[in-house]
Amino acid sequence: MKEDCIFCKIANGMISSTTIYENSDFKVILDVSPASKGHTLILPKEHFDNIFDMDADTAGKLFSLAAAVARALKQATNCDGMNIVQNNGEIAGQTVFHFHMHLIPRYEGDQVQVTWNPGTATQEELNEIAAAVKKEL
Ligand code: 5GP
Ligand code: ZN
Repeated sequence: MKEDCIFCKIANGMISSTTIYENSDFKVILDVSPASKGHTLILPKEHFDNIFDMDADTAGKLFSLAAAVARALKQATNCDGMNIVQNNGEIAGQTVFHFHMHLIPRYEGDQVQVTWNPGTATQEELNEIAAAVKKEL
């Protein structure tokens, strides 16, 4: 628990939330300001600021839970698609600095925006960044 972290308090039941599912590691809640009907957040109970400091075990469990929640949400909402979004750092749009994954059901004709403009890169630039990342893995 990190002091003054609202998602620590929600994930550990000290602040109420509309909860879909809970186990010893995660709490799955509805976003209070939903981008669409069924907008869901998966919160680890342990505090991680973001993906960069999450351990591999929690990260693995997270995605298997995300797949189950995504299927349940799809069945429940009859949505046409879904975006899974996870913001890390202010520049990336993170506003609550306790790791959370968004599951945003999408409906034909909705006005939700989760987009970027396609850019360009030379093959040399792609090779360079690929090599730099490979070295770090
Ligand atoms: P971020 O921008 O950090 O990726 O997303 C933060 C999300 O948390 C937003 O979608 C916001 O609506 C949601 N949120 C912020 N405070 C609360 C809260 O107290 N309860 C719930 N359920 N969601 C919250
Ligand atoms: Zn926290």
